[in-house]
Amino acid sequence: MAKEKTFSIIKPNAMKKNCLGDIISMFEGNGLKIAAAKLTKIPKAKAEEFYAEHKARPFFGELVSFMTSGPVLLLCLYGENAVVKNREIMGATDPKKAEPWTVRYKFADSIGENAVHGSDSQASAQRELNLFFSPEEICNLG
Ligand code: ATP
Ligand code: MG
Repeated sequence: MAKEKTFSIIKPNAMKKNCLGDIISMFEGNGLKIAAAKLTKIPKAKAEEFYAEHKARPFFGELVSFMTSGPVLLLCLYGENAVVKNREIMGATDPKKAEPWTVRYKFADSIGENAVHGSDSQASAQRELNLFFSPEEICNLG
């Protein structure tokens, strides 16, 4: 299977728990490599653009205010089947439905504050990487 890139965010609630190393270990331990990383606070307009598909949902305002509430770690993950693999490592959106070995089971607080984001398709991954990284910020890992 071809190697591909996906986009990940370690969300503000996980950052506060001092568990960056644990989450990155789960990515690396499951065969994904870090091709780019940026520790930053997302501006409100960027968070709105990023989650534009959820604009009409009742939780949109809450989601944007959570995502801009503190620092996050933006990552480009790289490896075989990276989009699907990352979603498996993350676990279900609702941590109560996530499997015990996953990031969200271990580090999410609720369906809203659920520790990590991961692109849901290769097209989303490309759109989201373009939003947060310039091409030269992403390392070519072969
Ligand atoms: P993400 O896009 O962050 O990786 P996801 O793809 O698992 O998560 P989506 O349906 O895309 O889930 O929802 C985007 C985000 O919106 C969720 O991660 C969560 O933070 C928030 N969210 C989703 N459903 C709810 C809900 N019912 N109540 C509150 N927040 C929600
Ligand atoms: Mg999503």
